[in-house]
Amino acid sequence: MSAKIFGSRFAVSALALAGVLAGFPAAESPASAQGPIPTASAEDRALARGIFKELIEINTTDTPAGNVTTATTAMQKRFLDAGFPAEDVHLLGPDSRKQNLVVRLRAATPTTEKPVLFLCHMDVVEALRSDWTTDPFQFVEKDGYFYGRGTQDMKNSDAALVWTLLKLHQEGFKPRRDILLALTADEEGGKFNGAAWLVEHHRDLVDAAYVINPDAGGIELENGRALVADVEATEKVYSDFQITAVNRGGHSSLPRPDNAIYELTAALNKVAAFTFPFEMNEVTRTYFKSLATMETGSTAADILAVIATPPDLAAAARLSNQPSFSSNFRTTCVATRLNAGHANNALPQTAQAIVNCRIFPGHSPEEIRRQLISLFADDKLTVKFVSDAGVVSDTAPERKAMVPPAPIAEVFEPLTRITQAIWPGLPVTPEMENGASDSIYFAQAGIPSYGYSAIALERDDVRAHGRDERLPIDSYWKSLDFFYAFVKELGSN
Ligand SMILES: [Zn+2]
Repeated sequence: MSAKIFGSRFAVSALALAGVLAGFPAAESPASAQGPIPTASAEDRALARGIFKELIEINTTDTPAGNVTTATTAMQKRFLDAGFPAEDVHLLGPDSRKQNLVVRLRAATPTTEKPVLFLCHMDVVEALRSDWTTDPFQFVEKDGYFYGRGTQDMKNSDAALVWTLLKLHQEGFKPRRDILLALTADEEGGKFNGAAWLVEHHRDLVDAAYVINPDAGGIELENGRALVADVEATEKVYSDFQITAVNRGGHSSLPRPDNAIYELTAALNKVAAFTFPFEMNEVTRTYFKSLATMETGSTAADILAVIATPPDLAAAARLSNQPSFSSNFRTTCVATRLNAGHANNALPQTAQAIVNCRIFPGHSPEEIRRQLISLFADDKLTVKFVSDAGVVSDTAPERKAMVPPAPIAEVFEPLTRITQAIWPGLPVTPEMENGASDSIYFAQAGIPSYGYSAIALERDDVRAHGRDERLPIDSYWKSLDFFYAFVKELGSN
């Protein structure tokens, strides 16, 4: 690592980083990657802005007005026009409006080494003109921001990576291993999730040593100051369970001990009182190791006790009083919806609740469903799985997300170094996401995935899925510089 980047005034951040990188082999980087990284020229920026504008102005919502294929076809044309061979530019998918694009920047010589895959969804969440100050499907530059649906999530990164691959190709850069870019449909919703479909039907096209997914992670700003760069290195699995009690019912003037509402609420109270066992994986361990250097007092002491071997479970219990710690320590399940009875003067014939679980990597939804059944210990209740599409089934998927390996040095070393060349001294922290992204389909296929957008955003200006979505123009330029340097290094590793 370059001393130019780690000046002594960044001692605190460097310490945090030392925690993150503890145990990693010393980095061996090409000399060209040391020190400052190249910045995009005015001409580069104009091209990258044009790609961004084109994507924002193509409606890719999962609505009659939206069409992902229009966007992927436009990008396909850019790659073919730039001279990418047709066999390296694949447009494919299960539905004519939801075609995915997979582009390959081929290695200088054929290699058995697996490619690096950049995974980017092209669809966006619906946006209504009446809710917005500007037209959400017009690319508007105003007050130092780019406005439009997808400027944060995630046409910014789609455009940045299309630009990066075009630029590397134009410069004649030949990586040592293939670099793949997948631009996919239906991450936000819809029936044709491109990432899932590609893994299932065209594994050969998207098979990779690891995945970089810019749909997560990034740089948190507070009043313009960069605080931390988060990298999502694993994620929990989202699952909904439908709990149902049924009863023959009757007149409410003749109550009996058997009652669907009482049976259901007894079960829900067991969920409330139950805590899943403490767990830690290599990603959460690295995250807490880094966090310990930034916390103080009893919190720091408890974190250190928790990451020790064996972990101090009393310290884990104390930290678990804070939801942000507790959700990082275990699977969580919580009642989120309730529906029961049909009349004020009748015994309830049905009582139903939804219990939402966020499952720690390494466990399947079916395993958690069975755990709920044994917790309830009441065979009058049914516990069913509800899919993302709302389909209810008697059993849940058996597939589980892989237990993540320790963050790979060949990804984290350049990621950290390039990030810090742009934001000097910024701590870079791998973390476990409690939400869900397309990374999960690769994690379930045993391919590690890292979520990092290199986009700097104010903590209180996250507008993804919301109105007047916008991106600071400067954040877009910086992400171009990041991806150009990062893709080049991953391709040279
Ligand atoms: Zn997204």
